[in-house]
Amino acid sequence: MLTIKRLYPSTSIICSCQAKQLLTKQISFQSTTVLTTDKKEKQDIHSKFPLLDTRFNQYQIAYRYRRSIELLRGYLVYRLFSINFLVNNQSKIAEWGQRILGTRLFQDVIKLTSFGHFVGGETPQEITPVIKSLLQYGVKPILDYSVESDDTGKSLSPDENDRMHDHNTSKFIECIKTSHDVCGVNNLVAIKVTALISPGVLKKFNALLNSVENRSLLPPLFEFINQEQKNENMVKPFQQSIKSYLAETKNKISTSITLTNDDLTEIYNLLIRLNRIAQACVEQKISIMVDAEQTYFQTAINYLATELQRYYNKNNETFIYGTYQCYLKETLASVKHDLAQAEKYNYIFAAKLVRGAYMEQERRLAQQYGYEDPLNENFKATSNMYHVCFDEVLKSIAKRSSGQVRVMVASHNEDTIRYAIQKMQDNNINRDSSVISFASLYGMSDYVAFALANSGYKTYKYLPYGPIESLQPYLFRRAQENRAVFEKANKDRHLHFKALKDRFLHLKI
Ligand SMILES: Cc1cc2nc3c(=O)[nH]c(=O)nc-3n(C[C@H](O)[C@H](O)[C@H](O)COP(=O)(O)OP(=O)(O)OC[C@H]3O[C@@H](n4cnc5c(N)ncnc54)[C@H](O)[C@@H]3O)c2cc1C
Repeated sequence: MLTIKRLYPSTSIICSCQAKQLLTKQISFQSTTVLTTDKKEKQDIHSKFPLLDTRFNQYQIAYRYRRSIELLRGYLVYRLFSINFLVNNQSKIAEWGQRILGTRLFQDVIKLTSFGHFVGGETPQEITPVIKSLLQYGVKPILDYSVESDDTGKSLSPDENDRMHDHNTSKFIECIKTSHDVCGVNNLVAIKVTALISPGVLKKFNALLNSVENRSLLPPLFEFINQEQKNENMVKPFQQSIKSYLAETKNKISTSITLTNDDLTEIYNLLIRLNRIAQACVEQKISIMVDAEQTYFQTAINYLATELQRYYNKNNETFIYGTYQCYLKETLASVKHDLAQAEKYNYIFAAKLVRGAYMEQERRLAQQYGYEDPLNENFKATSNMYHVCFDEVLKSIAKRSSGQVRVMVASHNEDTIRYAIQKMQDNNINRDSSVISFASLYGMSDYVAFALANSGYKTYKYLPYGPIESLQPYLFRRAQENRAVFEKANKDRHLHFKALKDRFLHLKI
């Protein structure tokens, strides 16, 4: 038995840098001009792409892919989310709704409202028309088979656990194949590590990694898995190799959590599952984005994502993207560390930058258990963190050879999008370059995404799909993010209304 201490991320790196103010209220030809060294190419690109209005008000462009009935639904959903009482009590309302209407009828209501607006469908067949309508306007879908789990204290039997995680692995592989078949090669799908291992074990693994001073000294995991998989059962050698590493570094690891042989077996099975998913990516020429989750999992998730990159992002192929949550105080340090590792071991660093989706839960837990809040103090600090992390990645893009560093600006925040666009211009990065791309969630900020795509920027939409019951946490998070207090939810609602009115007046129904 091994004992290790559970630690939450404690490094406090608070970004002091101020976000750069950008011109926001102008139709900006200059700020979106594509710079190329070759004058002719420059002219071609100019004529190829329309200008970008960085006020992002073009509802005529934003909703072309939506039918009028879908626009009406979108408007109503944003109206519902503007009622704080509903958003604050959504779990209770969902519980009561199911009791009164019965599960079936309740699910039908959800399907006609928020699920219909924010989710592509339940199956690959259902999402195929949605994918095609996005592609028609230059927006690439990132398929997201939505399964995730949290540490609720409830536990399944080991067999049930294994079956569920194997099932989720097959679903992710099916998702990779769907992406290949419907969208073509070089597309992306998203995965969540919590769908592949029990949350309790992932939490312990996280605590272990938090207490390891230098994680890069750990044995390269996927080299081990790929070499040893050829042999029969490698669980025992895996357990031994991790244990012997820990024994060597024992004095550097504090002790109070226990990793049993069963836990190590689960971690081994997780590596096997991740490896199967990565191999499916290689076969289908599709990349995966490893989503970021709560801090009590995130060190482990980030570690696994970078280990996958170390093994799979070689030879100019980018199969794995990680995720950095800029609401965390420690994110700049992680980005710097991981960029340096990628350079040192000569693999492609690929990441999406997000602000972070679990703010309320993180703050509540920090308060409840009395540890330092891992999140930035306020929104401004989070935005600053986003921008300095982006700058750090840009430095590395300039330093390393072409295509070795890639970043996705995954945000609905217009200031952040403008910041990235401006920086692309400052750094002579073409707008259709694949090293910098933009992404938003299906059903949100279409006025940004479709405008970017229309002007030639590489633009993606996360397109979640899956059974309604497993998408509930996702829909709850969307409701929280779109409640009345947020300006962009009002803008979404307002522009849905304008587009709808426009269609009725011009009878384009
Ligand atoms: C394509 C895509 C993929 C995503 N993948 C992930 C993922 O893998 N993991 C994940 O966690 N999230 C993910 N998200 C969600 C993301 O983290 C945000 O929750 C969401 O996008 C809202 O942030 P924003 O930048 O779009 O917009 P904004 O509305 O400008 O920002 C809202 C965000 O700012 C931060 N914030 C707000 N108030 C404060 C405060 N007082 N103090 C500190 N921070 C504050 C919070 O992170 C909040 O969610 C993803 C989002 C997109 C678009």
